[in-house]
Amino acid sequence: MIDTLVNAIDRLFYSGSTQILMYHGFSQGSDVSSKVSKHVTVADFEEQLEFLVSEFNPISLTLFFDACNGKVSLPPRSVVLTFDDGYASNYELAFPLLKRYQVPATVYLTTEFVLEKRLLWTDKVELSIQQGQLPDAGRKLAELTGISELASESNWEELVKHVKGWIKCHSECDKQVLVEKIMLAMKIEEAVLDTPATAQPLTEDSIREMLGSGLIEFGAHTRTHPILSRCNDEQVVYEILTSVREVETLIGQPCRHFAYPNGRENEFDQRSVDTLKKAGIETAMTTIEGENDRNSDLYRLKRIGVYNGISLHQFKANLQPGRRRLAILKNRLNGRSH
Ligand SMILES: [Zn+2]
Repeated sequence: MIDTLVNAIDRLFYSGSTQILMYHGFSQGSDVSSKVSKHVTVADFEEQLEFLVSEFNPISLTLFFDACNGKVSLPPRSVVLTFDDGYASNYELAFPLLKRYQVPATVYLTTEFVLEKRLLWTDKVELSIQQGQLPDAGRKLAELTGISELASESNWEELVKHVKGWIKCHSECDKQVLVEKIMLAMKIEEAVLDTPATAQPLTEDSIREMLGSGLIEFGAHTRTHPILSRCNDEQVVYEILTSVREVETLIGQPCRHFAYPNGRENEFDQRSVDTLKKAGIETAMTTIEGENDRNSDLYRLKRIGVYNGISLHQFKANLQPGRRRLAILKNRLNGRSH
């Protein structure tokens, strides 16, 4: 009953909206990386694509942009797929499926990761804790971070989650040093880290091939993946302008799209928006949850994150704006009654 009602609300009020999905990497699903939430298994991704092509209209970001500018009309129930960071698995695992289902997507490149093959800092932390395999890793990380409950934690995924959160609370100027401190505590050096396929960046050849298919667009995602609101003015300009220029060199055409690293409300600011406009960027993605329409602020587009391990049922529910609002309302009412 409630399902029928929510479906009716969605079709009545939200069929003109565009939902933008945010993915990161993909995995075969049979290795340790399949436990990491940002790498969706290829089997799940295929199921999601099948659902999207049957129930929605997948469109390119450029078509959405043109619709916002009145050049074309938006098809009903449109969705845009986006992939953040620039993982090789976007080409190895996702691209063949995108071609099979003829679904367009936009890939945002962190240019230091792609051009210099340097691990993303989040992957560096994750791999150090996972591969360090220290029996007293929890105690060491508790000492370093001051988070006392880590001392008794032995699950590496839990440790990674807390340590990443701790680093994100600091200024961008301190981040590199903190990551190095974590690696030192885990008794591991970057050079000896075994980099799994899921943590590899896209190659320049694969970027060119994806571009040549006409299905994939590329945008910038800064140079080193900082939280832009924690950067000083020079860093904001450097991170945005350098990455935009480097993406343009890689794709041989203007870079029109951008995604804020982390991307929540307080993780980018007007300085970023002003710099993006100066750089000729036409759309910028946040990670703020929600749907968009033709009147949305193009420098604050909302997205719906897709993470590993969610069921198809949950994926479908996440694409129902009516259901999302209902859940928010329920939470508020529950909050009020306690
Ligand atoms: Zn990112």
